[in-house]
Amino acid sequence: MYENLLSRFLNYVKTETRSDHESTTTPSTATQIAFAHELENEMKGLGLKDVFYNETNGFVMGTLPANTDKDVRTIGFIAHMDTADFNAENVNPQIIENYDGTSTIRLDKEGKYTLNTKDFPNLKNYAGQTLITTDGTTLLGADDKSGIAEIMTAMEILISHPELKHGTIKVAFGPDEEIGVGADKFDVAEFGADFAYTMDGGPVGELQFETFNAAQAEITIEGKNVHPGTAKDTMINAIQLAVDFQNMLPQEEVPEKTEGAQGFFHLMAISGSPEEAKMSYIIRDHDREAFENRKKQITAVAEKINSRFEHPRVHVHQYDQYYNMREVIEKDMTIVELAKNAMLALDIQPVIEPVRGGTDGSKLSQMGLPTPNIFAGGENMHGRFEFVSLQAMEKATDVIVKIAEMNAAD
Ligand SMILES: [Zn+2]
Repeated sequence: MYENLLSRFLNYVKTETRSDHESTTTPSTATQIAFAHELENEMKGLGLKDVFYNETNGFVMGTLPANTDKDVRTIGFIAHMDTADFNAENVNPQIIENYDGTSTIRLDKEGKYTLNTKDFPNLKNYAGQTLITTDGTTLLGADDKSGIAEIMTAMEILISHPELKHGTIKVAFGPDEEIGVGADKFDVAEFGADFAYTMDGGPVGELQFETFNAAQAEITIEGKNVHPGTAKDTMINAIQLAVDFQNMLPQEEVPEKTEGAQGFFHLMAISGSPEEAKMSYIIRDHDREAFENRKKQITAVAEKINSRFEHPRVHVHQYDQYYNMREVIEKDMTIVELAKNAMLALDIQPVIEPVRGGTDGSKLSQMGLPTPNIFAGGENMHGRFEFVSLQAMEKATDVIVKIAEMNAAD
């Protein structure tokens, strides 16, 4: 069933598709366009229909027509083509067959970087499995090429096993998830699915339908600079106001002191001189009301500082980035139930926890395509310690096939 899964995956990770947050094009890098065309050819070769590359949004899409007369909902499966902000040149995947679950895996020749159970206790979950790791110089790109390989392999299985009955399945592979803009131009109507799943989660069992609500705040502070020798009662040091601003926010509500369902303010960047200072915050909370209150808190701190001066010195520009997909998905929980039941039918224990972040599904759900996230199997994403097990990818492939089948069952 899975004979092409590994070769497919290895082929994808060796193709460089890193995204670039400084680029203003869609996709952000030309390597993603080239990869999209490779996937387009492969999809056509498998026998998917209506395969096309959309130049406007960088998505390559295709359709697996229904093989049942039943009126069942159209499901989409989505994965992203780009890799994270880490060296992705000449990815050289290493294969460790029948890993024993305890020994240390040397990544580079010198042995400077290792996967060991002390730093990465999750390794113990992979006894007896085939691991694919990096050679210590790059990331692996299992995020999200495992997702692409799984979807592609699941389509191959469904096509070669016509006895497996399913409704219409839509497939989409898109750009620039890692720089947070990939889904912005997605065309929900063109895709034509009733709901979808991103195959972009971590270890086996992950099923996510709750993400952060997210906003960014840009703070600009106007100072008044004079000679420090004669500054008394005249100088307004913009840097000092920036320090005051940060200190007036709740000191415990920062990423390094929060977990689970706790939200935060994260000061991401600060720069300045006495004349002018700039700060960038991201604001995150799963709860919508708490999220709205956090944005008000930012405004209130600015107003408090401004009240000390004749004219406002602190200027706040806040904008929302994405919302908790739960707001949309909980209107029809059958979408989550279907994925959960597919996992249970395959003896996979679903792990349903809120994501402390966003997914492409956060935006897609808001755009009218409810899109929970399912595990793709990778561990230690976005760096040289990234790895994935072949068996985890097989399980994710099984989940896709099972969802398609169960959706068309009585
Ligand atoms: Zn991803």
